[in-house]
Amino acid sequence: MNSFLNEDDPYREWTRTHQAGFVINSYPNPTSNYLMLHTAQCKTINEGIDPGSPRTAYRKTCFESRLEAVDWAESQWPGALKQCSRCHP
Ligand SMILES: [Zn+2]
Repeated sequence: MNSFLNEDDPYREWTRTHQAGFVINSYPNPTSNYLMLHTAQCKTINEGIDPGSPRTAYRKTCFESRLEAVDWAESQWPGALKQCSRCHP
C-alpha cells in the first residue's frame, strides 16, 4: 500500500507502473463520508475534470489488488467504500 497526499509526481509514477492496481480516493484524513474505489487507470483520478489541477489534494491510497483495497477500507470504515461508476472497479 502506498498513500499519496500533495505528491502528484510520485502518484503519477505509481499509477504508471501499476496499471492493474486500485486507488481509493479520500479526504486527506480518510473518513467514512467519502471513500471511492477506482482502478489505477480511471480517468477521474488521473486527468480529472480539470487536467491542470493537483491530483493529490485528495489523498490517493494505492493498492496492488482489489482485495487489498477493500480489506483496508472495510477494516476501518465498514460499509463506507463506494465504487466509481465510471471505471467499475
Ligand atoms: Zn473510477
